[in-house]
Amino acid sequence: MDVDPSVPIAGEPMAETAAWWLAARAEMDGLGAGAGLNIAHECVDRHAGDPLSANRVALRAVSRAGRRTDMTYAELAASTSRFANLLGELGVAPGDSLFTLLGRVPDLYVSVLGGLKALVVVSPLFAAFGPEPIRQRLELGDARVLVTTEALYRRRIEPIRHELSTLRHVLLSGPVRDLPRGTMRLDEALSGAAPTHTIAPTRPDHPSFIHFTSGTTGTPKGALHVHEAVVAHHATAVFSLDLRASDTYWCTADPGWVTGTSYGIVGPLSVGATVIVDDAGFDPVRWYGLIAEEKIDVWYTAPTALRMLMRAGPEVAAAHDLTSLRHVASVGEPLNAEVVRWGADALGVEIHDTWWQTETGSIMVHNPPDVAVVPGSMGVAIPGVEIGVVREGEGEHSQPSLSGPAEGQLAIRTPWPSMFRDYVGDHQRYESCFADGWYLSGDLVQRDESDRLWFVGRADDVIKSAGHLVGPFEVESVLIEHPAVAEAAVIGVPDPVAGERIKAFVVLNAGHARSDQLLMDLMALARRRLGPAVAPRQITVVDDLPHTRSGKVMRRLLKARETGEAEGDLSTLEPPSGGDRD
Ligand code: ATP
Ligand code: MG
Repeated sequence: MDVDPSVPIAGEPMAETAAWWLAARAEMDGLGAGAGLNIAHECVDRHAGDPLSANRVALRAVSRAGRRTDMTYAELAASTSRFANLLGELGVAPGDSLFTLLGRVPDLYVSVLGGLKALVVVSPLFAAFGPEPIRQRLELGDARVLVTTEALYRRRIEPIRHELSTLRHVLLSGPVRDLPRGTMRLDEALSGAAPTHTIAPTRPDHPSFIHFTSGTTGTPKGALHVHEAVVAHHATAVFSLDLRASDTYWCTADPGWVTGTSYGIVGPLSVGATVIVDDAGFDPVRWYGLIAEEKIDVWYTAPTALRMLMRAGPEVAAAHDLTSLRHVASVGEPLNAEVVRWGADALGVEIHDTWWQTETGSIMVHNPPDVAVVPGSMGVAIPGVEIGVVREGEGEHSQPSLSGPAEGQLAIRTPWPSMFRDYVGDHQRYESCFADGWYLSGDLVQRDESDRLWFVGRADDVIKSAGHLVGPFEVESVLIEHPAVAEAAVIGVPDPVAGERIKAFVVLNAGHARSDQLLMDLMALARRRLGPAVAPRQITVVDDLPHTRSGKVMRRLLKARETGEAEGDLSTLEPPSGGDRD
């Protein structure tokens, strides 16, 4: 196998690990002997330099108005090189940081990949953040360059610019009517830059991205990643998402979240596929329409979106030709068995759950493409990654259980190529995530006799009621089996007798109204399926549940509202009327 020996593969791989990562590594041509591995080279220049792929469409941007703009790998190579050269001209040095605050438009992808070519550390921010969350993140990441639009600059940055002491350059993408002081037009700046760029040697551990977590359990953390991660993105894009160069691929996540970068940019481009870039928010008719019109082969989305499609009704799905779909996968929240069964019918394919986190950088647990899905299970460890289960009550230094039935915290043996290397500004917290060669994820799981993993809940969300440990997901999944229920969230409310009492919030499907009979039916269903100790004591019908902008139910907010405690960091909370879930 032709592998550059100067590029270490993370850790002391097991035989299987070696095969998996080395196979992915071998497909990358690297920057030449001793020059290392750069994400942008693997995603762009490698394909642009190959006559077979140079003219293949890398990005197909579909605007809200339905206008399509294609960019081939050769064009993307030229634009990203111009961008990297522009950064050099501006005096931006390797290791400096670049933030983007943009919708899902081609300039976002050019800035991210061009930044990586220049070895700057890139942090794509979700465009809907307000000034305060933006300020916090730009400060934490020592932002030196920001790419945004005139409108976003006026509304979100101008009021805080004087507080951003490290920010030197602001580049404005798209049309500019009245150039604000201290900014420059991106298109003009790029047109003066050369379209070729030689990427400087890039160590595998050179920082690549800062990704902020979703803020589901508290203040978002900034996870620092490195260029070597591309090995894991490539391997999992091929073997978990079943992605091939000839495929048209759509990941619905915004690059402001790790999924939208790892699998909306890096993984699929490293494979050489055509990536759909959709700037509009969720709309069932549009989404089905996009799958049908673009003939999407592989689709990576989130349970919240799938539940919303399910809620829109089977006739909406049936009105579109979805037969192009070959592989559908989901991430971000537990995928209820009910949704998997719906998918097999409505989409015509099984939905493959995958589990991973901002910190893991890439998929760690999957339902392999060639194995029948067991609905409700998040799957098995990907080859090359060892997952252990740390059982409750075991001593701090005992080794996690490696196979067979067990329940406890999901742990991953360190290191792996896409492992985060720090929490920016909080190294102590980073250190506290590791013990005895294992990364502790903070998620609780059950493992069955076939070593399949089942999500129980986040350690923070688990309810301790009358001596029982109850995972919210188990209760929520039973509630959504009822035809009237579209979505459910379950929390523990302090109780003087039981410690915590289980309370459920449910959102109803269209055509169903709150009634005492319905609540009694739901209680009866929960008791029958879960037993009286685990069934909720109280069920409340609500119009909407609080979600993060990345589509996760914020149970901590429901709990804070219930107990009257402080609501905490709400920077990632989706406004109730929003439809822009990713
Ligand atoms: P924060 O760390 O700020 O509280 P977050 O953990 O939601 O936010 P992310 O890194 O975006 O931020 O999300 C990772 C988490 O999402 C996982 O730890 C897990 O709780 C949940 N998750 C991801 N995939 C799955 C899945 N397939 N099944 C169940 N939960 C999942
Ligand atoms: Mg987390």
